[in-house]
Amino acid sequence: MNLKTSRLDLKLKHTFRISRESSDVRNNVLVEIEHDGLTGFGEAAPSPHYKETADSVIEALSRFPLEVYDDVFLLEDILNHAVEMLTPNWSAISALDMALHDLVGKKLGVPLYQLWGLNPSRTPQTSFTIGIAGIPEIQEKTREAADFPILKVKLGTEDDEAIVSAIREITDKPIRVDANAAWKDAEEAKRKIEWLAGQRTEFVEQPMPERSPGMRQLKRASLLPLFADEDSRRPEDVPRLAESFHGINIKLTKCGGLREAMKMIHVARSLNLHVMLGCMIESSLGITAASHLLPLVDYADLDGHLLIQGDPFAGVEYRRGYLSIPTLPGIGVTQHQ
Ligand code: MG
Repeated sequence: MNLKTSRLDLKLKHTFRISRESSDVRNNVLVEIEHDGLTGFGEAAPSPHYKETADSVIEALSRFPLEVYDDVFLLEDILNHAVEMLTPNWSAISALDMALHDLVGKKLGVPLYQLWGLNPSRTPQTSFTIGIAGIPEIQEKTREAADFPILKVKLGTEDDEAIVSAIREITDKPIRVDANAAWKDAEEAKRKIEWLAGQRTEFVEQPMPERSPGMRQLKRASLLPLFADEDSRRPEDVPRLAESFHGINIKLTKCGGLREAMKMIHVARSLNLHVMLGCMIESSLGITAASHLLPLVDYADLDGHLLIQGDPFAGVEYRRGYLSIPTLPGIGVTQHQ
């Protein structure tokens, strides 16, 4: 099999800001694997937070000898080899995993959800993210998101209460809060969670780092479910996270792709944890790949492709807050020319 990588620069509709960073462009990587006249697509969405860049992804994949494999169905062998060789380049491994799954689906003529025996109509509603901004802009974004039944609100600022109050002036729809590990201690987290519990908040994502003093006690005292994101990277993290969180947020780019995400879901279920499927800012390729796992999770936050201009792929579609998974073989995306 032949592997090709190219840069996929995605321009954002609005500057996207969270507690630790802000961006106008995302530098992702497109992976194409060609075999017997078919092409499998994968996308890497590297994040400097996890110490990956487009250059590191391209470099890592250039070292992987995919040409020694001729049987695309040997996913376990190929991906175990990739994990052995390319760790910790998880978003590079994820793109390879996606492209191989796409190719397997295309060879068999079935969409991935069917290959896995999943019911595509059994998917949770997805949230739409409101990044950190000035109050007028937050209210404007809230109005623009009128079609989305659930908002995910980025917090972790001095003005958290003002941000939520500004949204509440516009809408009473449920919100989910993501502090991106920015609340400074358990006391601040507890106080903000108590206030948010009165604001129709469903849950709080990563109030502070898992290692922070008081994180375990916060789980017991919290009025709202707590989800790990920044600390929830790999299947082996999950048993430990059950001590401090009620659920985990899985992203393909952090864990190494669909195969590893599936493992995380099963480990989480065995520990009675809630499961959310999230994303980075990605094109419809990465988002659609993840969407095939939706029937296995409780919550979805797959909106990264809605934040970019000129999406190079078409795939999942929104219908009244739900994502519809395409029925085409493999991941099911088509590339805009
Ligand atoms: Mg998050």
